[in-house]
Amino acid sequence: MNGAPEPKVYGWCPGALRPMMSGDGLVVRVRAPLGKLSVAQARGVARLSQEFGNSLLDISARANLQMRGIREDAHEDLIAGLRDLGVIDPDTQAEARRNVLLAPFWAEEDDTHTIATELSAALTAATDLSLPGKFGFAVDCGAAPVLQDTAADIRVERAGETLILRADGAETVKLVTRESAVPEALALARWFLTQGGAPEGRGRMHRLIARRGPPPAHAAPMAKAGFCAKPGAVPAGTLAALEFGQMPAATLAQLAEHGEIRLTPWRALLVEGAASLPPLPGLILDATDPRLQVVACTGAPGCLQALSSTRDLARDLARHVPAGTKLHISGCAKGCACPGTAPLTLTATGENEFSLIRNGTAADQPLKTRLSARALRAAPELLKEGS
Ligand code: SF4
Repeated sequence: MNGAPEPKVYGWCPGALRPMMSGDGLVVRVRAPLGKLSVAQARGVARLSQEFGNSLLDISARANLQMRGIREDAHEDLIAGLRDLGVIDPDTQAEARRNVLLAPFWAEEDDTHTIATELSAALTAATDLSLPGKFGFAVDCGAAPVLQDTAADIRVERAGETLILRADGAETVKLVTRESAVPEALALARWFLTQGGAPEGRGRMHRLIARRGPPPAHAAPMAKAGFCAKPGAVPAGTLAALEFGQMPAATLAQLAEHGEIRLTPWRALLVEGAASLPPLPGLILDATDPRLQVVACTGAPGCLQALSSTRDLARDLARHVPAGTKLHISGCAKGCACPGTAPLTLTATGENEFSLIRNGTAADQPLKTRLSARALRAAPELLKEGS
């Protein structure tokens, strides 16, 4: 640990039907079906955010849309409005189970779109399947996988001409077809449970695989692929990054003027069919913008656990982050904005006071402690110490 107080671990993520209280009101996370909002849905969500919340919307690392600052007494009316828009599950269990992330570059009826559609329906119907709150599926069947660096427990990917099923953490896979992918994915989820992957209702696939290895039928070798999302034109439209994964609700409504919206796990939106997008508050449209090199969690005052604000410092330090590297600024040791390692991390240990960690997580041993935000702004070369 880095000397900061231990953050509280809840072990579950907020949903729409099961929101979580934060420093700025309820966080209501909307799991848009197939990670997509029609024009009417995008306008509707923006309007509801303005009516019942603080008009700020986040994109989560699993491509969910998070409405912030929702008043507790308005939650019921908000859910009624979201239900009318068709973005709400029948109940909290179905909402938790339908944790399906699909590669956002899909085309109608291709493998990714078809399998994700069928898997979402199968998970909604699988009322006997009691998976841990964070357990998720990734459907990533484009020419090359783009979600391998995004958290998921069960993955359907492409390897050349074939489709493969992979338990996260395993280095071997099972060959599947478009028809068998969904039943095989559900069978793998059940295997996870029967093998004791979720004692006391918590657990992740990669931890089980580390303990007991992959299922016997998973014997084919896997291939690793890297992917880095950048703002700009893509075959399905235009990708717009969001500063710290957040935008004003009005920006979502204005983006909907340009096309339907796909949510991505890269703190970015894909606007279908758009050749270009206008500059709007919260958007990053230039692939060389230095803010793409920083990630920062909500911090204070929006998060109850935060020991300091984070984003103003991240904005100020962004242009000093060495090219090709990444700076993570975390309001506490939990590291929500970047659960894995980052080349540089500043973890708050007090108000405007940070520890510097190199090549680690927000909770790892620091290289330097008690760095004030003022000192970092005055001498950003402090970030390069020990490199
Ligand atoms: S990492 Fe940031 S958002 Fe997560 S609990 Fe800590 S302060 Fe809150």
